[in-house]
Amino acid sequence: MNPAEVEHCLGRILPTVQKPGRYTGGELNQIVKDWSTIPTRVALAFPDIYDLGMSNLGLAILYDILNRQTDILAERTYLPWIDMEAAMRQADLPLYALESKHPIAGFDILGISLPYESLYTNALNLLDLAGIPLYRAERTGEHPLVIAGGHAAHNPEPMSAFIDAFVIGEGEDVILEIVRCYQEWKAEKRSKEALLAALTQIWGVYVPSLYEPHYQEDGALSHMETLIAEAPIPVLKRIIPKLPPPLTRFIVPFIDVTHNRVPIEIMRGCTRGCRFCQAGMITRPVRERPVEEVLEAIDSALACTGYEEVGLLSLSSSDYGPVLDLVRGMSERFAGRHLNVSLPSLRIESFSAELMESLKETSRRRGFTLAPEAATEHMRQIINKPVTNEQLLETAGEIFSRGWHTIKLYFMIGHPSETLEDVQAIADLCKAVLKEGRRMIGKRTQVNAGVGTFVPKPHTPFQWVPVDTTEQIEAKQRLLKGELRGPGLKLNWTSPQETLLEAWLSRGDRRMGEVILRAWQLGAKFDAWQEHFRYDLWLQAFKDTGLNPDFYTHRERPIDEILPWEHIDIGVKKAYLIEDYLWSLEGRTRIDCRERCFACGILPKYADLRRENPGDSWRCPEVRSPRRSDVRVTASA
Ligand code: SF4
Repeated sequence: MNPAEVEHCLGRILPTVQKPGRYTGGELNQIVKDWSTIPTRVALAFPDIYDLGMSNLGLAILYDILNRQTDILAERTYLPWIDMEAAMRQADLPLYALESKHPIAGFDILGISLPYESLYTNALNLLDLAGIPLYRAERTGEHPLVIAGGHAAHNPEPMSAFIDAFVIGEGEDVILEIVRCYQEWKAEKRSKEALLAALTQIWGVYVPSLYEPHYQEDGALSHMETLIAEAPIPVLKRIIPKLPPPLTRFIVPFIDVTHNRVPIEIMRGCTRGCRFCQAGMITRPVRERPVEEVLEAIDSALACTGYEEVGLLSLSSSDYGPVLDLVRGMSERFAGRHLNVSLPSLRIESFSAELMESLKETSRRRGFTLAPEAATEHMRQIINKPVTNEQLLETAGEIFSRGWHTIKLYFMIGHPSETLEDVQAIADLCKAVLKEGRRMIGKRTQVNAGVGTFVPKPHTPFQWVPVDTTEQIEAKQRLLKGELRGPGLKLNWTSPQETLLEAWLSRGDRRMGEVILRAWQLGAKFDAWQEHFRYDLWLQAFKDTGLNPDFYTHRERPIDEILPWEHIDIGVKKAYLIEDYLWSLEGRTRIDCRERCFACGILPKYADLRRENPGDSWRCPEVRSPRRSDVRVTASA
């Protein structure tokens, strides 16, 4: 189909589906370039609906970077909702890009964002709707090169049968290197194998077809073999040395989306070292943006978009060094403009009365979220989140006293060695916060407890520990459901089945790809949507492919087992993760590594980048040793 035919078809089917604004494009700030004159076309895809995908900052950044190049165009595509998918399949309408309405199969490169694992069946559905063969082995140089990146890609193996190349780490620099490599290959008219081999030479790119896993009799990995000499092993995570000025020209949707606000990333990485947190490990080192740059960006983004809300994003916003200067600066600069500021991910320890005072002026009183994660001191030592209940109650009191009446508390059950007493303590702590609120502001107090279930994620100090069984999770949730009810208390939880899916997909090896494909063939999609998640289809998929789901979840992995993601190097040493795991067993904690570097491995891996960026935008210590390249020059002179 050509764009005119796509438009014609849309004219017929859009009046029959919900929220047609998801499928039209044409929004303020979209970039439409001339297909006939631009040689390289990239489609950027989010494998869920537009409403979610439009709030994905990573894709918005890549869209901007690519479209700044005169010889590249980038367009967007999202997965249609159930009704639109049915209408598209019935009308033989392939997945198309919102800007030009060209079918996705006609692009040179398709980049798929994989921020979390429950998008995997959607990614297959997206390829299928685009008419692109799902298996990478069945695609030729005539098909788009399918690349993927995002947090979930730090264990690429479960999706490795379907993706030509993964970006491991940050995409800002590597995306252009991939496109340049593709352009050279196209100009030279070489084989697809030649393109894949060339891609392995780019720092941060993993090409799964050039690696072959071998397994032991017990099913564990024995080793990962490289199939060509040039393929690096391990593949080192890509990072950018310095955060560039933030994106400001955001596309403004016609319809309500998940976050109707300007997202400005103030800091990347986290130095707290919570042992369950994959993001905290894979996004190291911490790099901050200067306050003035953030303020300028907000000014410009508000002017470009007309939004009235700004989200200051990072893994731990109150740990941003100059957070007070920033919030005060915003109050001064945007006084009288009714700007709302959201500062998600606040930490209890770094949350000050002063910060709350400043936020009072710019934040909507919609509620504060605090994440103690566990409720007993013992459990917090194990997970390395050493806040005390007194600190939490004090912070809650400060919040209530400033006029907020809703506090959301986020906990996790299923941490290693957790008992029912630890779970009971969660209920007790929520009630104590409610009591504190009632004492201060009376019956308006509302405490909403969100209780997730822990999944030991790859590249964390807990990567070896088992996941709770369904029975264990249900017993803990039963206790909480019995305790956390009544006026002023609300409990949200995730089903044990959703937790198991997350565990299979995040901890899986290459064989898991067959399960994902089978589940999709059986009808699994939108697994992140409770009402569409079909656990029975996943169990059937395991049965049909002969794999044992418990192998990936309820088995404690020996420390010396080769893990399916070990050929991916996130910069943090395995020896550090082992040490941290052993420390957790002893209840030993680490302080914020901005106060004391624990030599996690990041500095030696990225020493040259650190050296080139002196000062405190990086929160790791300065590197004083000579450059490795300088040493070589001196030795040979
Ligand atoms: S190198 Fe040191 S300061 Fe930097 S992230 Fe690792 S432990 Fe923290």
